[in-house]
Amino acid sequence: MSSLGEVTNSLLEVRVDPHSDDQLIWSVSNTCNFTLKDTYLSLRHMKPVLQWTSLVWFKKRIPRHSFVTWMILKRIAKTRFQLFLWGVVSESKCVLCGEADEDIEHLCFECPFADFIWNHLLTDLGYNRSILPPDQELKWCSDNFNGDNSITYIKKLTFNAFFYHVWAERNRRVFRSETRPPFQVLSIIRLEVRLKASMFNKSVVDTDYNRQFMDKWCLDAQFVVPRFISCYWLKPSNRCVMLNTDGSLCDDFAGFGAIIRNEDGEVQAAAAGSSSPISVAVHELQGLEIGLRLASLHGFHRIQVGVDSKQVIAYVQRLATPPWIAIPIMRSIWHMIRGLEEFSIQHVYRETNRAADHLASLCPSAVFVEITPSSFAEDLKKIIFYDKAGKTYPRCTSCYILIYRLGSP
Ligand SMILES: [Zn+2]
Repeated sequence: MSSLGEVTNSLLEVRVDPHSDDQLIWSVSNTCNFTLKDTYLSLRHMKPVLQWTSLVWFKKRIPRHSFVTWMILKRIAKTRFQLFLWGVVSESKCVLCGEADEDIEHLCFECPFADFIWNHLLTDLGYNRSILPPDQELKWCSDNFNGDNSITYIKKLTFNAFFYHVWAERNRRVFRSETRPPFQVLSIIRLEVRLKASMFNKSVVDTDYNRQFMDKWCLDAQFVVPRFISCYWLKPSNRCVMLNTDGSLCDDFAGFGAIIRNEDGEVQAAAAGSSSPISVAVHELQGLEIGLRLASLHGFHRIQVGVDSKQVIAYVQRLATPPWIAIPIMRSIWHMIRGLEEFSIQHVYRETNRAADHLASLCPSAVFVEITPSSFAEDLKKIIFYDKAGKTYPRCTSCYILIYRLGSP
């Protein structure tokens, strides 16, 4: 809040239900209850996340590899050049090549020893490209080794094993006067990555690239084939109307929408609203709230609700605790549901909830604005026409798994 006016306006939006008991709420926690974790997170000073953090810290990491990589990228690892500047050692040259001062930039990708290994590893990972200057190479890795799947894990494991073993070889030469050639270090990296990767379940989409990737690393894998089904807008039954609601959240604004249609797909009423951005779940609930309000205004008492948020259904059915900020909205929703003759709520696919999604994107400058069907934009009219005609939409719902076993390396 930047001004007293904004504070006053926010207080005006607070709704007090005189019939409900007071409730103690721990506002820094999403669940309303006190937790040490939420309290700690609200108090601690958060620094910006480093670009390469997800490259080093990920689910399937080898802890010692990630730790050494973190030390190098954070520049905590003491290079000979740094020690030379401090006067600790008399020689600053790289022990791996003897050609340049040993600093982090040189060790990372510039050193011919590291360059040889990283070039071969890039080929193993399916890339045919030249190594960039250290900062750019790191950014390239961050951009290309992202995601949460088996192939990405192997790429990240390789990235960390590279730093670990280059540093380990450097230490071996400095402290033990033992030398291993680059191809031998490369073999060790390949072996360790493959051993680690063989320990977790590798499930990837069945593509030529993924098959070749696993083949190159001599790894067994499960290749998944996506399966598409058709879905369509759900018509109401049992003399009910269908209420579709949705909420959306962007950086600067949040919107929600609701549309009521009869069993012929004819629009009975529609509404949209906006509020300050909070969370998707809250705006989804606001969509349901204005939808029920719209139904009440038009005298509909037998309602089937279709939402594309399973979370909203859990809140309405009291299977999950809503965020504390949404409690007044939930009370309003339950109050309106109690006044209905018939109410049911079900999950619908996003593809069949596009009319409500369109209304949610309108973001009018009020919490509730009724929109007459004659003023609908052409896009929305088209969606309603297709829904009414029973148009089917393709959706990737489930997959079956083809197990593809490779021979031993
Ligand atoms: Zn070197």
